[in-house]
Amino acid sequence: MDREKIVVIDFGGQYNQLVARRVRECHVYCEIYSYRTDLEQIKAMKPKGIILTGGPNSCYEEGAATCEKELFEIGVPVLGLCYGAQLMMQILGGHVCKAPVREYGKIEVTVDQTSKLFENVSEKTICWMSHNDYIEEKAPGFRVIAHTRDCPTAAAQWDEKGLYAIQFHPEVLHTVEGFKMLHNFVYRICGCVGDWKMDAFVETSIRTLREKVGKGKVLCALSGGVDSSVAAVMLSKAVGGQLTCVFVDHGLLRKNEGDEVEEVFGPSGPYDLNFIRVNAQDRFYSKLKGVEEPENKRKIIGEEFIRVFEEEAKKIGAVDFLVQGTIYPDVVESGLGGESAVIKSHHNVGGLPDYVDFKEIIEPLRELFKDEVRQVGLELGISEKLVNRQPFPGPGLGIRIIGEVTPKKVRMVQEADAIYREEIAKAGLDKTIGQYFAALTNMRSVGVMGDERTYDYAVALRAVNTVDFMTAEIAEIPFEVLSKVMNRIINEVKGINRVFYDITSKPPGTIEFE
Ligand code: GLN
Repeated sequence: MDREKIVVIDFGGQYNQLVARRVRECHVYCEIYSYRTDLEQIKAMKPKGIILTGGPNSCYEEGAATCEKELFEIGVPVLGLCYGAQLMMQILGGHVCKAPVREYGKIEVTVDQTSKLFENVSEKTICWMSHNDYIEEKAPGFRVIAHTRDCPTAAAQWDEKGLYAIQFHPEVLHTVEGFKMLHNFVYRICGCVGDWKMDAFVETSIRTLREKVGKGKVLCALSGGVDSSVAAVMLSKAVGGQLTCVFVDHGLLRKNEGDEVEEVFGPSGPYDLNFIRVNAQDRFYSKLKGVEEPENKRKIIGEEFIRVFEEEAKKIGAVDFLVQGTIYPDVVESGLGGESAVIKSHHNVGGLPDYVDFKEIIEPLRELFKDEVRQVGLELGISEKLVNRQPFPGPGLGIRIIGEVTPKKVRMVQEADAIYREEIAKAGLDKTIGQYFAALTNMRSVGVMGDERTYDYAVALRAVNTVDFMTAEIAEIPFEVLSKVMNRIINEVKGINRVFYDITSKPPGTIEFE
């Protein structure tokens, strides 16, 4: 049986990926497509429902993102959100214009509880609004099913046609009952049964991978991060010893991390695969000697990574498949899926395919969001510690050491970071803070220790909370914890005589330092 699917049509709204994630949280598979996608292509996917996202345009402007009228006539329920709602109304004969009062933020909405969309939703419910335009006049056939003080048509529906338009954003968590509304849409209105479950996904994927690979040889570059680890374990369950994982230790990992990767994936670990660890620390350190500029460091680390991997791959000889840990946001953001303009190079191992003798790439996680990758990891029996690992940049500590990277500085930042993480965990804060780490500044200053003058480096502690990594707020760490960390770092890490706590949010700062 075909997997049921909801299609999200992307009009460039900032929450478009969230819409798809929420639908998947309802156990219904969902994919994002640009509004430019051909209607025939959409129809061919046989979606159970279609959701139109928000977007930055005003739909009455010349050249604004739009869709064909026929989209509303294919007999599949359509839910328009914000821009999507306005566009639906305009195309079907209503009127949209600049609102006399724009709404932004949490707003109380009064809903008609007899609507299928609002079943089990409170009559007065807080929703997230973000609009300058509004539906001045609904299209014929529709009835209004929600309003606010300033917005007479906060939602409208045309029951028989299965068309729903809502001005607010149910996908955003600030819309308190938004998940219920999306749940109602996919189950009560689209009639989905909910066949998107991670255990089933794992089972099917393993079977498909086994069939696809046959007796072939598979090669995987393992970074120790979540995506490549989950991909590797999945392949190992599918084809066991036909899989070889190459782990390049570039000497820029967190303290003990190289050994931890080896413990899990090496011969004494639980998985059936061939594990090759390349200890290339010295090669990376010597290439990085004297290099201070962050982009240069990134480039050198990336290129050297490929060199090392290439040499190993040559020893292994030709393989049939190369595994990559691409995930769904990579697909959407590289312009293949939705409408977001960002083109980013996203592989841990950029450019790799040119250097390795292989026939085909396999990307077992290509359909998954990060939280789904984590769930799959748990389904596969990977430890929670590994599965919930914090994001760690590909160039590793190379970009958490400001300025030149030396083995000595690597050791300093590793030790400081380990102490920091240990104390955060001891204080029970490790589950509540999004991301935290230590970075080594390039600043040296005078201090005094044991009556002796020191002239040493300063370490910066970073701790942020972020929902989507696009913006971040600093996490407040209790002062006792900070001073304990400071004390231990100064006492235990030779070469550091000052500790800073970075209170910069993103923007204007970034989460990482370089
Ligand atoms: N640009 C439209 C407006 O301002 C839609 C906004 C949105 O989709 N969030 O009303």
